[in-house]
Amino acid sequence: MDLVSVFLFILGLVIGSFLNCVIYRIEVKKSFLSGRSFCPSCKHQLSWLDLIPVLSYILLSGSCRYCKKRISVQYPLVEMATGFLFLFLFNPDHFIRSSYWVIIFSLFIIIFVYDLKHYIIPDKIILPAIGVALAYNTFAVLTGDFSPSYYFQTLWAGTIPALFFFSLFVLSRGKWIGFGDVKLALAMGFLLGPNRIIVALFLAFVIGGIIAVGLIILGKKHMKAEMPFAPFLLLGTVLAHFLGNSMINYYLHLN
Ligand SMILES: [Zn+2]
Repeated sequence: MDLVSVFLFILGLVIGSFLNCVIYRIEVKKSFLSGRSFCPSCKHQLSWLDLIPVLSYILLSGSCRYCKKRISVQYPLVEMATGFLFLFLFNPDHFIRSSYWVIIFSLFIIIFVYDLKHYIIPDKIILPAIGVALAYNTFAVLTGDFSPSYYFQTLWAGTIPALFFFSLFVLSRGKWIGFGDVKLALAMGFLLGPNRIIVALFLAFVIGGIIAVGLIILGKKHMKAEMPFAPFLLLGTVLAHFLGNSMINYYLHLN
């Protein structure tokens, strides 16, 4: 590993620690930038020794130095995920494009964790994601990276699934799908464009379905239990982003 990679990984760990902080501050409805970090359980102010990403968690063997309350495994997991995100996705040679995807996937990590815990996609995260995607697509068409026709296709790729999800939302009165998923579908289409959005939605429904059936068989959920859908939509988006085009080509050449 070269120095740049080490630096990117550590930067990712630090940003991951910030993402945890954002998640916590949305949970307790505090401003993102104010105040120092403290233990959510005993409110003791944390020193820099308690705030080293991943390492503090290991050194403290997963509990608060002051009150010994267990620290959620969410903290090191989010930090590691963001570390690897920066390591593998950020590319100084494609600064704007790779920064864009790093920002989008950082927002996705927040949505993933938040929806898993609370079954809600926070507007404070999904609305900026939609805005960033629209801004990037506009930038890309202005610089000639996207053709004007592809630009309009990305608009449709977001709008059509969002309208489909919205009708499911209305039909089921919010039981099958939440309004947050409608907004997430809009963002996904803007991000992925017309072909890969289909791959993403297909994978989300298939993986979500398999997990749901698995949980019912294992007796962890009953038939009518609520299940967060955003984690599957996000998983579908990530898979479609990296593998979508080769999956489409493979499928087209099967017959
Ligand atoms: Zn504590």
